[in-house]
Amino acid sequence: MQVMNSQIADIITQIFYKVKNEESLGEIAKYIPELSNVDAEKFGVHIAFLNGESFGIGDFQEKFSIQSIAKVLSLSLAYRHLGERIWTRLDVEPSGNAFNSLIQLESDKGIPRNPFINAGALVVCDILIDILQNPKEELLSFIWQFAGTKSINYSLRIAKSEKQTGFRNIALCNFIKSFGNIKNSPEEVLDLYYLLCSVEMSCEELSYTFGFLANKGKILGADQEILSLSKTKRINAVMQTCGFYDESGEFAFRVGLPGKSGVGGGIVALMPNQYVVSVWSPQLNEKGNSFRGMKFLEEFTTATNVSIF
Ligand code: GLN
Repeated sequence: MQVMNSQIADIITQIFYKVKNEESLGEIAKYIPELSNVDAEKFGVHIAFLNGESFGIGDFQEKFSIQSIAKVLSLSLAYRHLGERIWTRLDVEPSGNAFNSLIQLESDKGIPRNPFINAGALVVCDILIDILQNPKEELLSFIWQFAGTKSINYSLRIAKSEKQTGFRNIALCNFIKSFGNIKNSPEEVLDLYYLLCSVEMSCEELSYTFGFLANKGKILGADQEILSLSKTKRINAVMQTCGFYDESGEFAFRVGLPGKSGVGGGIVALMPNQYVVSVWSPQLNEKGNSFRGMKFLEEFTTATNVSIF
């Protein structure tokens, strides 16, 4: 892979060390016990441009648990199969609440506010169980095609750890089922959900995986269409408005790119038709988003003068 022009590499390098040397006010997620076994000081950044150039720094080739970032991939797969009918089961409004909140589901009669909070991702998993013959295998091969590698996998260790402490997700799934918006058994849906959240990738793999969302729905470097242009724009719109739970406004305000975070400390963000950038630093702010990841991206879009606005 070609290394991109030195100006952007220099900007990334400078911001990377600045943010690394500043105090991080975040903390590692502990509510999933296995997630806390990660070195809190890990920090990696990778950017992939549509023209084939790329640059990475720090721990950008080390795999981490992408957690909720994977919710964009499960949604893409379900949306590809079901088309616009999917929006009868899910809304596209920011929740303004924590990612694992139960409260809106009562007034919204079991229709999750959006596909990126846990409630929404559980409904997407339910849909995948209905439309796929082997949901676990097919979801993984869907993910493999983007980065062109089969080295991306579920972490059974993390999935098991999350299952053992998944009391809120169990509550969410059963609550949605009581409204009729989960068709399969909650156990089956939760098992797929835990596996989905356990997917591990490096920043480098993450940038290539999300390439199709910057590339009008086509896999980076290939002509293969995963989603139509319209569906791609819609997923980006939902990432923009809902990708950071109750901090989505703050991310749009400070960074200005559609993106998605996960409690493993990863953030992926993209500039349509230009690039995908991935950051990993496991210390999270109080909303569950990577403290250094947000800081890095804010400084990056400020220094480059590029954002969707
Ligand atoms: N697996 C995590 C959970 O269900 C995902 C949360 C996240 O990344 N925001 O709690």
